[in-house]
Amino acid sequence: MDIFAQLPDTAVLAGADLTEAYRHDESHLVGDPPLAVVKPRSREALRALVALAKGEGFALVPRGAGTGKAGGCIPLGRSVVMDMGAWPGEIRVSRQDLALWAPASAMLRDVKAAALAQGLFYPPDPNSWDQCAFGGSLATNAGGPGACKYGMTRHWVLAVDALMADGEVHTFGIPSVKCNVGPSLGQLLVGSEGIFGLIVGATVRLLPVPRERLTLLLPMERWEALLDLPGQLVEAGYLPSAFEFWDPAVLADLRGPGGCRAKPWPCSNSMTGTAARTASWRGWWRPWVPWRNTSRPPRTRTSAKPCGPSGAPPPCTSRSASRTRSARTSSCPARASGSSSKGWRP
Ligand SMILES: Cc1cc2nc3c(=O)[nH]c(=O)nc-3n(C[C@H](O)[C@H](O)[C@H](O)COP(=O)(O)OP(=O)(O)OC[C@H]3O[C@@H](n4cnc5c(N)ncnc54)[C@H](O)[C@@H]3O)c2cc1C
Repeated sequence: MDIFAQLPDTAVLAGADLTEAYRHDESHLVGDPPLAVVKPRSREALRALVALAKGEGFALVPRGAGTGKAGGCIPLGRSVVMDMGAWPGEIRVSRQDLALWAPASAMLRDVKAAALAQGLFYPPDPNSWDQCAFGGSLATNAGGPGACKYGMTRHWVLAVDALMADGEVHTFGIPSVKCNVGPSLGQLLVGSEGIFGLIVGATVRLLPVPRERLTLLLPMERWEALLDLPGQLVEAGYLPSAFEFWDPAVLADLRGPGGCRAKPWPCSNSMTGTAARTASWRGWWRPWVPWRNTSRPPRTRTSAKPCGPSGAPPPCTSRSASRTRSARTSSCPARASGSSSKGWRP
């Protein structure tokens, strides 16, 4: 469209054939055709875009990698999709500050990898960690199985750089954990999915990589006892980083041919550099690491004791450098029509 030709430092996609993909995310919703899809590359571009949106009266719909499952980034009505994929910036890690800055356009997997390359750990772990954008993970306050121990994305955010309705980028917060002055405005932006402004970058807190990880495989006799197990472990003084429940069908799939589809967590191999070991506890409990046991039959003992409500959790006697995770699959691309979404009106 002509009105977008004046935008500086911006790639513009217009026309149904180029913008069709932007009517979808990983939900089953289909948005309206957007007026255009814009990919800003500078603050000047953002300034001009906000002025244009105000003048022409259209909404701006931020978009990261489009992995959202709630239709948040799909356009409705008279709107323009702001694809942040071309936003510039390099990931910067400060070991001294245990902090990392990244642009919204960075992929979350690259953010985690950049921290890991410095021996540091960025804990937020939505199951889409290898597909979603850093900006999208902040905007949705994403979190995965590790939230039990490490919390959600918001617990790691120190400062947020965001485009506000005045067309300028402002920084909310300071890159330090020792920040006790005033309300935490940056936290308002985390999880707000673009309704207050558009996140262009953020500083997050890091941890030293945990030196070891322990994987416990606990056989359960009664399914109902699962409900009590997390609480029992915590009460007994353990703080697990994640729980995964594998029913017999999932276990059989993981242990069978092709079980190596289960992906190791990106931190796992460099935790200790040691291969996963197996050991036994009082002769009945054995940790089992699926992607290292792809062709072996399961190690089972007829004398295996279940861990039930009356049984205390077993002590941790075996350490593994790996973390078990069930196989991740992308969500089904099939989509049906529906409605959702919002637009951000500067
Ligand atoms: C297989 C799969 C597994 C998933 N597992 C999890 C999970 O375990 N936990 C979880 O929380 N989510 C999960 N999700 C949902 C989704 O991946 C996350 O919410 C992810 O963080 C979204 O990132 P994105 O870059 O794809 O954002 P998008 O889908 O592009 O956008 C999501 C929302 O954020 C807004 N937004 C995007 N970028 C910005 C920005 N720069 N500034 C302001 N607003 C912005 C959009 O407008 C939209 O409302 C999963 C999705 C899939 C497909």
